[in-house]
Amino acid sequence: MLQMYEDAGALLNGHFVLSSGRHSARYLQSALVLMHMDNTTSLATELIKTVNADDYDMVVSPAIGGLVIGQEVARQLRKPFIFTERKEGEMQMRRGFSIPDGAKLLVIEDVITTGGSVRECIAVVREFGGNPTTILAVVDRAPGQEGRFDIPHHTVMHLDVETFDTDTCPMCKQGTPAIKPGSRGNA
Ligand code: ZN
Repeated sequence: MLQMYEDAGALLNGHFVLSSGRHSARYLQSALVLMHMDNTTSLATELIKTVNADDYDMVVSPAIGGLVIGQEVARQLRKPFIFTERKEGEMQMRRGFSIPDGAKLLVIEDVITTGGSVRECIAVVREFGGNPTTILAVVDRAPGQEGRFDIPHHTVMHLDVETFDTDTCPMCKQGTPAIKPGSRGNA
């Protein structure tokens, strides 16, 4: 799996500002992997190995990062796919989507770090009467970080990336500018 990311040139080295505001010397640009549908199909197949389609009514992802992989997971499980999106900073469900009361949802994301987008997605789904029961993400960039979610989560790949606050960041000390890639830095 890691090879797939390296082959796609999706593991970037430099000086990056993550969604959490912390700095890192490595960044994962998942869109470069998922632009090839064969990769997306393989990753989705790998992702759903641990789940049973009968346990879910729908698949949901937080936009933008989760859209491509979420839609492919939904296709393979033959479930409807919906998404939440950020408008003026606030996670919302729009586009006329609705959730049948008590429907069980599988939450799909590409990369999780602090898990903020996934938590906000889950909160929105619950407001709409849904019951999110499992989170699956392709990459966990902060494995071992406990207490991020109140439902079980599984990932295919772990990538433990060292992060720094701006006071201790060695790249900042060298004076190189930090760049903020992607939306909320979530690849
Ligand atoms: Zn820095």
